[in-house]
Parts: sequence; structure tokens; C-alpha cells
Amino acid sequence: MQSRRRLVVEWFSGLMLDKLHQPRNLAKGDEWHKDSLGLLLSRLKEELGELEAELSRDHIDRSAVVSETVDVANFAMMLADAVTGSLPG
Ligand SMILES: [Mg+2]
Repeated sequence: MQSRRRLVVEWFSGLMLDKLHQPRNLAKGDEWHKDSLGLLLSRLKEELGELEAELSRDHIDRSAVVSETVDVANFAMMLADAVTGSLPG
């Protein structure tokens, strides 16, 4: 039996990929590792602000909150990729 943590990570990483595969995001390419760390950090902070805004609503829209957590995670992933050069190219 898979642990809950593994199941949640698999679910969430699928959401991250789904978001990255949206046409408007595909059009941006996957060269984020060439962006400056400052730019990626700025975008991460913007997404965190969007998440905070969703969480501050009187009636929380769960779908919108999850979507913003995915945005935060994707920019954190891009920053990790850019800072480590984890993959060739
Ligand atoms: Mg967002």
C-alpha cells in the first residue's frame, strides 16, 4: 500500500504538470533555467501573493486555492532547477 504522502505528491505533481502543459504555458517554453534567479523569485512571490489573496476571501474557492498552490510550486521548482542546473541543456 502506498503511503498517503506518496499519493499526495503524485496527485500534486500531476497538477503541476497539467498547469505547465496548458497552451499558454507551453507557449512560454521550458527554458526557465535560463531566467535570472531574481526574476524567478519575483514570480514566486507574485504567486504567493495570489495564493494569499485566495485564502483571504470570505468564501474560499478550493479549486482556486489549489491552482495557486500549484503556481507557487511550479515557480519553486523552476527556481530549484535554475539554481542547481539539475538537468542538461
Ligand atoms: Mg497564479
